Amino acid sequence: MNSTSPIAIIGAGIAGLSCATALQHAGLNVCVFDKSRGPSGRMSTRRGTGDGDAAWQCDHGAQYFTAQDPGFRQEVARWCEAGVAALWTPKLWAPPLEILNGERESSAAPKQRFVGLPRMTAPANFLVEPLALTTQCTIKALQRDADSWRLLSAENGLSGASFGAVLLAIPAPQAAPLFAEILPSFAAIGANTKMRGSWTLMLQYAAALPLALPFDAAFVSALDPDNILGWIARDSSKPGRTGLESWVLQATPEWSEAHIEDDINSVAATLLTAFGQLGGRHPQSWTAHRWRYADTESSPQLGSAWNAESGVGMCGDWLNGGKVEGAWLSGQHLARQVLASI
Ligand SMILES: Cc1cc2nc3c(=O)[nH]c(=O)nc-3n(C[C@H](O)[C@H](O)[C@H](O)COP(=O)(O)OP(=O)(O)OC[C@H]3O[C@@H](n4cnc5c(N)ncnc54)[C@H](O)[C@@H]3O)c2cc1C
Repeated sequence: MNSTSPIAIIGAGIAGLSCATALQHAGLNVCVFDKSRGPSGRMSTRRGTGDGDAAWQCDHGAQYFTAQDPGFRQEVARWCEAGVAALWTPKLWAPPLEILNGERESSAAPKQRFVGLPRMTAPANFLVEPLALTTQCTIKALQRDADSWRLLSAENGLSGASFGAVLLAIPAPQAAPLFAEILPSFAAIGANTKMRGSWTLMLQYAAALPLALPFDAAFVSALDPDNILGWIARDSSKPGRTGLESWVLQATPEWSEAHIEDDINSVAATLLTAFGQLGGRHPQSWTAHRWRYADTESSPQLGSAWNAESGVGMCGDWLNGGKVEGAWLSGQHLARQVLASI
């Protein structure tokens, strides 16, 4: 690794931002690139206007995050203090003893659920403030240039700048092809990690007609294994939310995978019918989103991967058990590996 040149981090989701923040704090020069119009990746919020041009918003990726690790707890406390995250205490429909993703939660000691404030993108926007971020820059290839790297992007062609190291903080199926020609062992880790899709429907209700349901959120398929809805939530019940009443419906990973190529209208109709069976009224309007890589079926649990000789690495939720917490910790893990090799 050439430690005098800046480090490029591809992906401004929570893993990339966590890694970039740690490296910058250690005195390194980092440049972050993302293909989207802003940071935050799957910690995302959709905004729009509904009936009579009234505004609505809805978190359509990560719904909340938990913080078990002491380091992440400290980070979340920092976000809360900065006003970009807060506890969410929904009226929750869940089995009395949840067994979700292998984690047990007793009703005696309920899990603390945090959300971005006033929307799920807020922590990423907070983290990115002191960082150099280039958006709308889709990295298509990494090119070796003597002892450093240049980036080929769809929008800007080959970068003028050279980088001492390149760290990919993107989902496994997107990381694998970028490493194919460079480091086949890393490409194989990505290619062997299966990520699953998620069909998500955002519902908007007229301000005068909020939905009368006895809960704010429900782990539907955990209560009824035959139900195609995995999770539903009243987004408006989260702290700091304004605008029209809005709900999010997420199909289970199994149903989503089986129907990932289906027509958007037929998916919406099926999810709305399932919601109706739970007492959910038809909305004034809806918006659907298909996530191709929502979660990881089985994580390699490496924390992150770093090759000091080539100066390339990767981090992300999929390398560290999934979820927002796993992604943030993966970014820290990679930063420690990079710093240890300088
Ligand atoms: C529907 C859904 C529900 C979820 N629910 C929860 C939940 O309730 N709790 C929880 O903890 N987690 C949840 N998650 C998972 C959580 O969102 C992720 O674990 C976490 O946000 C992943 O962060 P990351 O930084 O690893 O990846 P990402 O957030 O995916 O960030 C990767 C970034 O890389 C960019 N990128 C990709 N390819 C390129 C390229 N070639 N060039 C440039 N940029 C690129 C993308 O635009 C993106 O911004 C959910 C996810 C989804 C989709």
